[in-house]
Amino acid sequence: MTTVKKILAIHTGGTISMSQNDQGEVVPNAQNPIAQQETILAGRVELFTDEMFNLPSPHMTPVEMLQIKERIDQAEKDGIDGVVITHGTDTLEETAYFLDLTLPSTIPVVVTGAMRSSNEVGSDGLYNFQSAIEVAADDASRGNGVMVVMNDEIHTARYVTKTHTTNVATFRTPTFGPIGIVAKDHAVYFQKLIREDTCNIDHVIDHVYLIKAYAGMDGSLFDFLDNDETAGVVIEGLGAGNLPPKTLASVQRLLDRQIPLVLVSRCYNGVAEDIYDYEGGGIELRKMGLMLCQGLNGQKARIKLLVGLSAGLQGAELKQFLSTAVS
Ligand code: ASP
Repeated sequence: MTTVKKILAIHTGGTISMSQNDQGEVVPNAQNPIAQQETILAGRVELFTDEMFNLPSPHMTPVEMLQIKERIDQAEKDGIDGVVITHGTDTLEETAYFLDLTLPSTIPVVVTGAMRSSNEVGSDGLYNFQSAIEVAADDASRGNGVMVVMNDEIHTARYVTKTHTTNVATFRTPTFGPIGIVAKDHAVYFQKLIREDTCNIDHVIDHVYLIKAYAGMDGSLFDFLDNDETAGVVIEGLGAGNLPPKTLASVQRLLDRQIPLVLVSRCYNGVAEDIYDYEGGGIELRKMGLMLCQGLNGQKARIKLLVGLSAGLQGAELKQFLSTAVS
């Protein structure tokens, strides 16, 4: 006899909750069409619904991310077996990774969304929602950390990224692919991620920035951040993790202010490493005091820095937190 799983659906907005109007514009709805799907997987799943937000995902901030984390903490205490979050796809990977870093829970937490709104031809929202519920209700999903389910694939929150503006196959894990797939009515896993401790926080700080390097870059953008408010900066360096020489004096001034600087690569695949020993090369940047963060893209590294700083980590502890590829 199969047990009926209690699944909490937390709706936050995004295309999955929107529809197209007569002019062909995609707009938010007062009533979320996905939230009306009470009977989905009836008999196997008891679905509880919380319409927490109705935000396009560019409106999402770490403040709402923390509220979602706290809601999930409470749900686990209340005996919920798994959680599905519907979210706009633009910043979905940031919310998913924030939750992965901060939730101590072992219940499955699955984030999903849609590339086509609820009334467009080929709308993928309801299907992705159903797949996400399947994965959240599957015992094999326990202890996997936060996952992103879209287009029949299961990805880790840590490494998944949005790679296409409109294609339904937009969510990819460039380094090693999905960890599993969604079969007819269950999850099939092919690999498991090594996971370490999570970082439990009760507030989020602000003024953590992300800057992308480019050919011919000078220090101007760094100079804008040379003030008392800046809490931390992630730099998407070139290639393996290098910067143009004209940025270096400004970068050094931020370091002199004790502002934590994290270096990742602007490449969407691979890991940042200190390989090159020339002016602005990764070896010089590491010696200056930039912290290399391996395997995360810029937006994820920013979330990790923000979470670490919000937890009060500094110095060697912060460096350790940022450099480990497994938490
Ligand atoms: N712009 C939309 C959002 O992120 C895109 C989506 O949901 O797919 O809210």
